[in-house]
Parts: sequence; structure tokens; C-alpha cells
Amino acid sequence: MPTTLNDSIAVLKGIGPKSVQAFAQLGVVTIADLLYHLPFRFNDIQERPLASILDQEKVTLKGRVITPPVVSYFGRRRSRLSFRLELEDHQVIQVVFFNQPYLNKQVALNDEKSIYGKWDQTRQTLMGMKVLKETDNIFQPVYSATKGLRQSLIVQAISQALAEYGPLIPEAVPSFLNERHQLMSSRAALQGIHQPQSYKQYEAARRKIIYQEFFDYQWQLQTASFNHRQDKGLQVHYDVEVLKVFIKELPFELTSDQKKAVNEICLDLLAPYAMRRMLQGDVGSGKTIVAFLAMVAGVIGGYQVALMVPTEILAKQHYQNFCNLFPDLEDQTGLLISQISSKEKNELQLGIKKGFHQVIIGTHALIQDAVSFHKLGLLVIDEQHRFGVDQRQLLLDQNPGLNILQMTATPIPRSLALSIYGDMSVSTIQSLPSGRQPIQTRLVSEKQVDKLYLHMQEILAKEQQIYYVLPIIDQSEHLDQVENVLNVKAKLDQVFPDYQIEILHGQMAKDQQARAMAAFKANEAQVLVATTMVEVGVDVPNATMMIIQSAERFGLAQLHQLRGRVGRGNQPSFCYLIGNPTTEQGKARLKIMVDESNGFQISKADLKIRGMGDVLGRQQSGLPTFKYANIIEDSDSLNQARQDVAWCLQHYQDLNQNDREILNSLNQKSRIEL
Ligand code: ADP
Ligand code: MG
Repeated sequence: MPTTLNDSIAVLKGIGPKSVQAFAQLGVVTIADLLYHLPFRFNDIQERPLASILDQEKVTLKGRVITPPVVSYFGRRRSRLSFRLELEDHQVIQVVFFNQPYLNKQVALNDEKSIYGKWDQTRQTLMGMKVLKETDNIFQPVYSATKGLRQSLIVQAISQALAEYGPLIPEAVPSFLNERHQLMSSRAALQGIHQPQSYKQYEAARRKIIYQEFFDYQWQLQTASFNHRQDKGLQVHYDVEVLKVFIKELPFELTSDQKKAVNEICLDLLAPYAMRRMLQGDVGSGKTIVAFLAMVAGVIGGYQVALMVPTEILAKQHYQNFCNLFPDLEDQTGLLISQISSKEKNELQLGIKKGFHQVIIGTHALIQDAVSFHKLGLLVIDEQHRFGVDQRQLLLDQNPGLNILQMTATPIPRSLALSIYGDMSVSTIQSLPSGRQPIQTRLVSEKQVDKLYLHMQEILAKEQQIYYVLPIIDQSEHLDQVENVLNVKAKLDQVFPDYQIEILHGQMAKDQQARAMAAFKANEAQVLVATTMVEVGVDVPNATMMIIQSAERFGLAQLHQLRGRVGRGNQPSFCYLIGNPTTEQGKARLKIMVDESNGFQISKADLKIRGMGDVLGRQQSGLPTFKYANIIEDSDSLNQARQDVAWCLQHYQDLNQNDREILNSLNQKSRIEL
């Protein structure tokens, strides 16, 4: 008997312990999770004339079976089922199914059948995937799956869940808004997304699901306390003249955008409300120094300040840079990462508690280790999208009135920022420091690497340095990954015997990683062969060439981040994307990298090309991503949801009981990742 949507999916027929485990890998544990495991694509299985079909396209062809289906076996488990099909226009084609011998029960001589499959133009053969039944929907949903989880099982489980739990699906949007925007119920939308009977129904369902997702996001955003910048905050009274001395001693002049950002932040610090500011600037635009100056202002004002970054490598780098730039503050500056000994950690924590350490730079160890601060006045979060809201909230709960500055390397336009960041103020660094030259990006195929070696030789001869990055394909392939890194290093050792080649990957011990990075930074190593560990933030201005192998495996936002590791000085810089994209889409994606240098434009193009499809690399995009909605294409819906939520909050008392309950239920649900 269905009780609640929180039931485990194990209650469904056909879902045994193995499937439960496989589903769990997709984050699907309860019936509710399953119902919201939405298809990322549909196979449109409408029949089409042969002439309109491209090579390798997936289609449905209808015709009469004119030869008896024959199954031939080869090897232990391999088989091939084949027959000829005469289409309605009397053309005859071959149909082949591999390893599905049981299908011969579904086709017999003279049957009229619709077959779904991939069209092979040269062989005039349909590589069959499915024999359709009369009752089959013309839209076949495709779900993201994992090993050991068949599409058909997902479809069947969802269909069962819809039938048995359908009546329990709660409405997610107040009824007056559904009416105003002519949206169907959440329940009907789920039905329409999983089992659309027509394109129109699918579109309407999609519209509701998107709005609902944005509505939920906006509700979390507008009610989350870290977002309330009207809250009373710690006022940081710093002496401007002292800050000016620090600025004067910098090795470079700030750009006008950097100056403006520093001013905006410092005004927030002085003000009686808690700062909630986002500092956006493309890779290499120079956000770090702006954050550092805000931190210095905090220290001058008598507060502790903390900088939280996503990786230990980055924490170390920031720590070293900070100490180099502000030697007067070195003694009071602490580096808090999990790698340090527990003795060091204890001392550091004591120093933080007593207020001796005024500047703390670290990873999320800052939160995990229950650090208690003496008087924390400012928290800076670099690469903010890598941290959850919960993590920020925790620091906020322990340090009321805390000023927070977040940084993102994917600047978005003002109007979009309002919808995505809500109440937060935004500072943007538009222009790069002067003297920068555009990074020249080139696509090369595996076969052309010899030419690439010539160019590498030139770079090395100029005493400049090179990154060589390899993709991590998936977690289970970590070992191959190490092998890959070692292979490339061996090859490069051979080609460039006069230079030092370092490696960096996730399977190395943390201190080894740190040593490798330090050697590269000091130019003791000239080439760094690495996994994507160098993706975020790493700053070695003498490196002028970035080589990325199997570039088609990366998300574009990620490629952009990687490329941003070079072009940080005044020398011409180069980025080589090695890859052999096989699909049109793959080619188009890499072409964007060649043509476009602006991070937002790249993210935008990326979201557009990938559509709601690929989950691959989505998380890496600097822009917030949604399960189903797309902030670029569905921006109207996003704006609408923002206004509607604001209205609901203002007029909460006027809403009817039912609508209020709907809103209250949102509080207990998902949280946003901002
Ligand atoms: P990001 O915005 O990607 O975090 P960084 O803060 O790491 O960029 O800055 C990139 C590089 O530019 C660093 O090497 C930094 O020292 C340098 N830089 C920053 N501001 C300036 C400036 N005003 N003039 C010259 N170089 C600068
Ligand atoms: Mg940075």
C-alpha cells in the first residue's frame, strides 16, 4: 500500500537490492526522487520516409517483414538477428539486432512492424534497437542511468510509481499562480514529462516543471538568511590611510575596475549591515588582489578575516601570495588545511580562538574542524559555486553579522545576476590588467602532436613553462588516469630530455602534490603533466602554454578555466586542444573555444548546445545549473518566478491556507547551491 512519497523505491515491483543500489548512485532513493528523475532527452519515434533520414540518425521505419527472421550465434553470448523489411514505398532494407535473440518471437514473416534503430546509410541497414508495439508512445523518454540499470527498468519503475503514488504528489506552486500563468498541476506535469501523449502536452508539462524548479530556487534564495543583507552586520572601521599604504606597496597598479570593486567592498564593510557581495570577474581578471585588500581592511579595522577556497593547492598558493604581498602581516597569517599535523592544527586553532591569527586562509577545513574565531569580521569565499549554502550558513550561525564576499569566475549580466544571486550586491571586473595578450587557441588532432612538440620546444627555449592536462574520465578509471599521466611524462621525458617534467594527480599524497606544484611555481620544473587539479585558481604567470588532451571530454566552462591558467603575464600565450571530436556537436563545442574568449559567452554557448541533455561536466560550469531548467533559455520563467516569490513573501498574510501550506512545505525541502 503506498503511504508516502518518502517510501523507498524498494517497494516497487521489479526493484531488488541491486537496482536499489544502482538507483542510489543516481541520487534516487525514495519514490519522490524517482518521480523527479526526469528524462533528459526523448527519442522521437515517429515514422519518417527513408529519404529524409541522415546517416547514423535514430529513426523509426515501418514496413512488412519479407524474409524469415534468422538468428545466428557467434561467440558465447553474442548473436545477430536479421531480416528484410519492405517499406511502404516498396524500398527494401536490412534490419539487424545484435545480442537480442529473443526478439525473434516478436517478428514473423509478413508482419507489419515499426522498428526503432540507427540508420546506417552505407550498408542500407537499420541497426535495430527496439521493436515497437502498437501501444508504444511516440515519445520515448531517455533517462540518465548507471551501470546495471536498464532504461526499460527505469521506465517501468516510473510508470508504476506514477500509477500507485500519483495521487500523493504534492502541488509545488500556489494555486493562484498556477491559474495566473495557466500552469498544470505538479502531478499532471510529472505525468506529462514522463509519458507525454502529444508534443503539446509535453511542452505544457515542461513549462510547469521549469517554473516550479525556479520557484523553489527563488523561495530558498529569498528566504535564506545569508542572503539578507539588510541584517545588522559587523561594522569594520578601518583607517583608510593605512590601507592606502598597503596599496601603494603592491608590485602593480590596480586597474580601474579593481579599484572600483575595492571601494564598493570597503563601503560595505563600513556600513552597519552585513555585507553580501559577489565579486565577479573572468579568469585572470585579478579578483584575488581585490579580495586580499578587503581582508587587509578588515585586519586594520581590528577584525579577523578568513579566506575559504576549494582546494589545498589553491589555499597554499593564496597563503604564499598573501604573505609575499603583505610581509607585515605574515606572522598573523595562518594556513588551515587538513594536510598539516595535528600539533600544528591545534596551535593554529588556539591562535585563531585567542585572536592571534588575524588572517586565516584555508579549505573547508575552516568549517569542518569546528574552528571558533575570536572576532571574525569578514569571510571571503573563492570559487563560490564549489561550496554549499549549508557550509556558509554554518559559519554565519557561529558568527552573527559576518560580512561575506563571494567570488565567481563566470560573470553574468546584471539582470540575470538579480535572479540568480537575489539580494546580493555585485561588483564586476570587466577589463583584464593592461598588457595582457589574447590567448591563441588551436585545435589539433592526435596525429599532429609532432608539430605541437616543435612549438613546445620554442616555448621551453624561451624559458617559459607548459601545462599538459589530461581528463579524468570517471572515478572508477582513476588508475588508468595515473597510468595516462605517467605515459605522457615518459613520452615528454624522451622528447625533451633537457627539461624537468613534473606530474600532479589525485592519487598522489597531498605533500607530494604540494611539492610538485611548488617545483613548477619555482620553475624548477618546466612542464607540469596534470589532471584537472590545476583547473581552479592556480597562478603561475610564467606558464604560457596550456595543452589539453582529449579536449572533447571536458565541459566548455572547464576548458575555459583551464585555459585561464595561461595568459597571466605579458607574454603571448597558447592553448592547444588535442582531440578528435566525432560528432557535429563535439566539433561545434571546440570551435567555440577557438572563437570565444569571454567566459560568460562560453558558458552560454555551452548551455545552448548541450541543451538540457548532457549531465557531463554540468557541475563544472560556473553558472548555477538546474535539474531541468536552463537559466539562459528559460530566463523569462526565472524572472517571473523571482517576482512571484517576492510577491508571495510580501503578501503572505493575504494568501489562503492552502497556498501558505504549499509555501511552507518548500522550506523543508531542497536547498540551493549558490
Ligand atoms: P583571477 O581573477 O582568475 O583569480 P588572479 O587574481 O589570480 O585572477 O590574477 C591573475 C594574475 O594577474 C595574477 O598573476 C595577478 O598577480 C595578476 N594581476 C592582478 N591584478 C593585476 C594588475 N592590476 N596588474 C598586473 N597584474 C595583475
Ligand atoms: Mg582566482
